[in-house]
Amino acid sequence: LPSDFKQALPVLEEIEKAGYEAYFVGGSVRDHILGLPIHDVDIATSAYPEEIKTIFKRTVDTGIQHGTVTVLVGDDSYEITTFRTESGYQDFRRPDQVTFVRSLEDDLKRRDFTINALAVDRNGDVIDKFDGLGDLDKRVIRAVGKAEERFHEDALRMMRAVRFQSQLDFTIEEETAVAIKDNSYLLEKIAIERIREEFIKLMLGKAWQTGFADFLKLDLSEYCPAFKNKHDNLEKLLKLENLKFFDEEAAWTAIGYVMELTPKQFNKMLRDWKVSNKSREASVSTDKMLKNFREGEFDLWKIYSLGVDNYARVISLCKLFKIEFDDEALTKKVLNIPIKSSRDLAITGNDIIKILGIKPGPKIGKYMSEIEHKVVEGTVYNNFDNLEHYLLNE
Ligand code: ATP
Ligand code: MG
Repeated sequence: LPSDFKQALPVLEEIEKAGYEAYFVGGSVRDHILGLPIHDVDIATSAYPEEIKTIFKRTVDTGIQHGTVTVLVGDDSYEITTFRTESGYQDFRRPDQVTFVRSLEDDLKRRDFTINALAVDRNGDVIDKFDGLGDLDKRVIRAVGKAEERFHEDALRMMRAVRFQSQLDFTIEEETAVAIKDNSYLLEKIAIERIREEFIKLMLGKAWQTGFADFLKLDLSEYCPAFKNKHDNLEKLLKLENLKFFDEEAAWTAIGYVMELTPKQFNKMLRDWKVSNKSREASVSTDKMLKNFREGEFDLWKIYSLGVDNYARVISLCKLFKIEFDDEALTKKVLNIPIKSSRDLAITGNDIIKILGIKPGPKIGKYMSEIEHKVVEGTVYNNFDNLEHYLLNE
């Protein structure tokens, strides 16, 4: 057993001592077998949530209606979910009802892909009801059971397929792929927030071009905001080098770039995807800076105004889109910009009033902005004496 599982072993043992079954399940099992780093260790059990809460002292009701209780042990926490089946997917998303069951096999059956339907017991033995091990070996993503039915139950699984494809560099097994293409329209039933979450994981995955290629080929893109009939534009991303994206904002900017959107259209696309305000604003500024660089416009004031924080991302996108210039020299200049905003200036509006002996008014703002320009461009040092001298002499 890997150390993450070993550390959680006492949790399994406690549950078994109380007379129930407990297993490691889900992504951690898959990633462990692939030799990838494990993040959260998930545990599935035959005990009901109320039973789990009597076994452990410190618990949190994370999702008790779905059967999930978080157990705190020392500094660690584990999500423990009761074996369950799901039924009544009336609207192609999430079950109307979950039923707690006592059988591991029933629980594994409701999971999305064979590689995610493996369990590991206390001794490290793998329980593999759907040949998930064979599929891990073949590096394929295959729905558990009839793919078509599984996507009708929950259409988000189609996005999860291309997401795992990108993260793991797997291929989607033929029948599963056909079922995605046939049912891609069901994506319209899914909340955009959930689609976005999978889509971002796809774009930030190591084999994003593989996942993105099927996202296009299997028509999923047609049912996503702003991507309808944009296949030809989006396909341009596949011709680039497979460099990993710097962050979510870089991925969005690259997409806006190949779609040849104006800043306004790009902003609307991000709103349609319900991207957070912070990411949307950073992406729009990144897009503007990238296009400035493409046009040979490297003005320091413009870079500063669009946000120095976006600069590294723009440089990474210039590599992707083969926009060439002396980036080393520019980076040196950008790193030398001494302030992040006017608040970092060594002088205030009140100082200006005193130094020049003038009354408060719009003129003060004009002086401040002039000083800010000079400091950013490096013509005046940002210390009080220099700024005072500049004000008295210019
Ligand atoms: P990650 O490494 O991104 O956390 P994961 O496989 O753990 O990957 P989660 O979204 O955390 O993915 O889900 C945990 C497990 O729950 C999955 O491995 C899968 O067995 C099951 N699961 C999650 N979402 C679904 C779904 N929509 N349909 C069926 N099973 C699902
Ligand atoms: Mg997980």
